[in-house]
Amino acid sequence: MIYLDYSATTPVNKDVLNSYIKATNDYIGNANSIHALGVQSKVLLNSATKQIADLLGISEEEVIITSGATESNNTALKGIALSYQKFGKHIITSEMEHPSIYKICEFLETQGFEISYVKTSPEGIVDFEDLKRLIRKDTILVSICAVNSEIGTREPLKTLRQIIHKENPNTIFHSDITQAIGKVPINFHDIDLASFSGHKIYAPKGIGVLYKAKDIHMTPLIHGTTKYNDLRSGTPALPLIVSLSKALRIALSDLENREQKVSELNKKLTTFFRKFPDIKINQTSYSIPHILNISLMNIRPETFVHALEDEEIYVSTNTACSSGNMSTAVMSLYNDKQRSLHTLRISLSYYTTNDEIDEFMRVFEEKYNDLNTLTLPKKKED
Ligand code: PMP
Repeated sequence: MIYLDYSATTPVNKDVLNSYIKATNDYIGNANSIHALGVQSKVLLNSATKQIADLLGISEEEVIITSGATESNNTALKGIALSYQKFGKHIITSEMEHPSIYKICEFLETQGFEISYVKTSPEGIVDFEDLKRLIRKDTILVSICAVNSEIGTREPLKTLRQIIHKENPNTIFHSDITQAIGKVPINFHDIDLASFSGHKIYAPKGIGVLYKAKDIHMTPLIHGTTKYNDLRSGTPALPLIVSLSKALRIALSDLENREQKVSELNKKLTTFFRKFPDIKINQTSYSIPHILNISLMNIRPETFVHALEDEEIYVSTNTACSSGNMSTAVMSLYNDKQRSLHTLRISLSYYTTNDEIDEFMRVFEEKYNDLNTLTLPKKKED
């Protein structure tokens, strides 16, 4: 099997899984119970939370554990909207977001909020001038992802923060960092809120984080009595939290060398794809090497995904969450419908080997030649 869909999800790291099993077996108490088993769990919970906070460079009270990035995005956008609506009902997001952000914005529109979509620059990041123009006195929140999930363009978060604060120092800045964490460094001081999922960094599915800077007020979406964090009640998922802290420690080490390795694999693939006149590479100078998006102009991408699957090679059409639809990122960048409907996303990891890429290219070429011939327009009969 060759797995090249790491941006959809990752397999669980063995050490991470072991820490999950150990916490499950050895810490049966509810961290909220006052007896010895509860206290034991609470001690482990506190130390795992501290490790998560230390690794991210934030404080423990700024860590909100959620079920994943979708929940973190919901908590951030709805929670801020509820808290700050008395100051304004205007929210800005970009054309390069994950579909979960658009769904939340659609909901907020039904609640009387006004959403503006900042334009994309020719380099696939936010158009700074447009962002400046859109920020108003009543803009309570700007939400812009750190790395786009389809074409991997990376936003300059520090610059965005400066632009936002210059125009309106009260506007809160949220970033969905799901595709960035563990791939590129993130400075949490550049943002007020950030969302991510553990399963993109080799932790189990079902856990995520919402970072919220101390000075930001946010209305909780989940109310209850069992306390871990006031903003998200419920019995803490101790084994998941412990495995997330372990996964983060692994994911955040040696970022530079790993990025270099992935960069070389990406270059090998782009050089390969350039030989095919009917393949377009959807990449800009801001794309991170872990995500490589191409358009097979003459082949339906679903057909190609299944053709590769027959050889146990796994890639995506656009994102796992929007398969079958047009790629919003490619459309926003190139304004080309055919190109946006025909995307294939190959996502790489530092675990990906040269041999896997060589085998992938061999199978790709074989399948591509078969399918491209089949779908070429028929010659006119004389
Ligand atoms: N944001 C981004 C940028 C993503 O890539 C994803 C997952 N594809 C999500 C949010 C949603 O994550 P989850 O499905 O784990 O909630």
